[in-house]
Amino acid sequence: MNKDQIVEKICQKILDKGLVMIEISAKHVHLTQNDVDELFGRGYQLNYVRELSQKGQYLCKERVDVSGPKGTLRNVAILGPCRGLTQVELSIAEARKLGIDAPVRLSGDTKGTPGITISFENNHVNSPDGAIIAKRHIHITPDEARRLNLSHEEVVSVQVLSEQRALTFDDTIVRIDEKASFAMHIDIEEANSANISKLGYGLIRKATK
Ligand SMILES: [Zn+2]
Repeated sequence: MNKDQIVEKICQKILDKGLVMIEISAKHVHLTQNDVDELFGRGYQLNYVRELSQKGQYLCKERVDVSGPKGTLRNVAILGPCRGLTQVELSIAEARKLGIDAPVRLSGDTKGTPGITISFENNHVNSPDGAIIAKRHIHITPDEARRLNLSHEEVVSVQVLSEQRALTFDDTIVRIDEKASFAMHIDIEEANSANISKLGYGLIRKATK
């Protein structure tokens, strides 16, 4: 076996144990091109800064403010590319600060969620819905999911390998996608509760029925 084959074999062994990297998602906004036009001018193209872990997703240079009845969060990141629906992902504490009672939802599932105002300089968009607390989830490819015997939208538990604050996150949704990079996404409050500062690791457990 050459070096690459050995590395490959070790990686497969680790995957087979269900070890998943845990990444932290800070508050951010996804915008429709229509809302980009409203905020930055007609036909405006958001500027790329860097790729995120999920292929095709990137951080934009532009920042916006988001507001609710009780307050404003400034300089909130925009993630590109533009989507079919505008969505603002907040932590529970951030939503509370804005006075918005946002529900825990999977990204993209914004139907019936509270409205929120997005601003850039003197331009505002009053999105009629889209404020959510992102539901924790695992991105995984079909091949990796097969190896771990996981199905799309399956609910699993992830035992976080943490010093001082070991805990298991139940209610974690599996999202299978050809373009996925295998990782779990949690928000800043979930990360704090497990004492994860930048990157964490956990073990996927099938939920016991
Ligand atoms: Zn994600």
